[in-house]
Amino acid sequence: MAKTTKKRRGPQPTAKAELDVPVRVGQTVEVEMTGLNHEGAGVGRIEGYTLFVAGALAGERVRARVEHVKKNFGFARLVEVARASAHRAMPPCPLYDRCGGCSLQHLNYEEQLRHKQQIVRDNLRRIGGFQVEGEGAITVLPTLGMSEPWRYRNKAQVPIGEENGALVGGFYAEKSHSIIDMSECLIQHQANDEAVNVVKKLATELNIRAYDELHHTGLLRHVVVKVGVKTGEVMVVLVTTEESIPQRDRLIAAIREQLAGVTSIVQNINPDKTNVIFGKKTVTLWGSDVIYDYIGPIKFAISARSFYQVNPTQTEVLYNKTLEYAGATGTETVIDAYCGIGTISLFLAQKSRHVYGVEIVPEAIADANRNAKLNGVENVTFETGPAEVVIPAWKEKGIRADVIVVDPPRKGCDEALLATILEMQPERVVYVSCNPSTLARDLKMLAELYEVKEVQPVDMFPHTGHVECVILMEWRGEPK
Ligand code: SAH
Repeated sequence: MAKTTKKRRGPQPTAKAELDVPVRVGQTVEVEMTGLNHEGAGVGRIEGYTLFVAGALAGERVRARVEHVKKNFGFARLVEVARASAHRAMPPCPLYDRCGGCSLQHLNYEEQLRHKQQIVRDNLRRIGGFQVEGEGAITVLPTLGMSEPWRYRNKAQVPIGEENGALVGGFYAEKSHSIIDMSECLIQHQANDEAVNVVKKLATELNIRAYDELHHTGLLRHVVVKVGVKTGEVMVVLVTTEESIPQRDRLIAAIREQLAGVTSIVQNINPDKTNVIFGKKTVTLWGSDVIYDYIGPIKFAISARSFYQVNPTQTEVLYNKTLEYAGATGTETVIDAYCGIGTISLFLAQKSRHVYGVEIVPEAIADANRNAKLNGVENVTFETGPAEVVIPAWKEKGIRADVIVVDPPRKGCDEALLATILEMQPERVVYVSCNPSTLARDLKMLAELYEVKEVQPVDMFPHTGHVECVILMEWRGEPK
């Protein structure tokens, strides 16, 4: 019997036990787990009432303490695993129970991949109304996972605090402002762990104080580190409350001396009472303003603030699949909606006549243009604005697309954009999704004119609950 103290940030215990449900807050129940939800929590039923238990796995029998009840479902905290699943794994991270960054380390990796494939299937069936089994079912392929599913993150954002006179950095303890120190994170690139540890040590030696959130005092708020996985270049960003850093030059010299790969040391000033990490002002203290990395053959410049995919290894897998589904041969016009810093657009441009990218954040479009120049790519046009406004305007101008690629945020595509796609009728639609439920909703609407050919889940965030996939849809009509 495995004892566990698995804790999760989540709904707090409530005194409201008046609901007509078969469990009450505070009660310890024994329950059979029948599935895992999209956040990686176990799902069980008591007299038909759904109970979510974080840390429990499908096929397990667990004892859990009910902490929160709602009309249709409740949450319970795992007390003990009475009968463990054969797929249960020992989480290698000693802080797994307290951190909350990962939610699936207790499930072996092969099963994580199967679970993510199943999540996609379930959403397509429940929300999209698609047939996912038997004859005529749409194909949901096995999840493409990593051969080495650890140390994949290229960016660390670590809040800094103090403990016994030393700087600590890691994550916030549950329900508090105090910071639990973490010297290594197993899904983080080693270079990032090393850089954070060096900065914590040096800043302590130089008497630099950590920011105190409660009293709004102190200086160092966050250490952000980015590494170019292909180039080995490292950027250290010190997020401080004010511009002046005591013994600044000594700190910079010591960081350079002790961190071999560092090519950029940057300061961001955030004087506000906020839990937003970055402030408006960024200054380069030493070295370059940017680091570089590659996804496939495409080179990217990454600044302190710019968005970049956090798992570049799997991003390449995802984009190669996107390129394959786009079926570009060199003669096509392609639209990349929600293009961010132009990553997919630049990938597609290799094999298209022209790519039009649209993105709502102006800074991302500035990066996209810079990245196009960096790679000598001339057959792309980027425009700032909402995809649902810009793409209809392109249509009015007579631009017609052979392929439309969408990679929307979690809330999915705007309905007006989907309506525009149905009007423009490109041969193929490639949907890159980080949220299977909004994906299923959107595919249902597109299914009026498009057939789902294939669904490929790609594991972008091993050991977390995140599910990413790419879908190929083809126009049902006659080739135009
Ligand atoms: N394709 C990019 C980014 C995808 S993330 C990549 O792979 O790196 C989704 C992007 O959609 C974000 O950059 C976000 O700023 C942008 N976005 C959100 N709403 C939008 C809208 N209505 N129109 C265009 N872009 C939008």
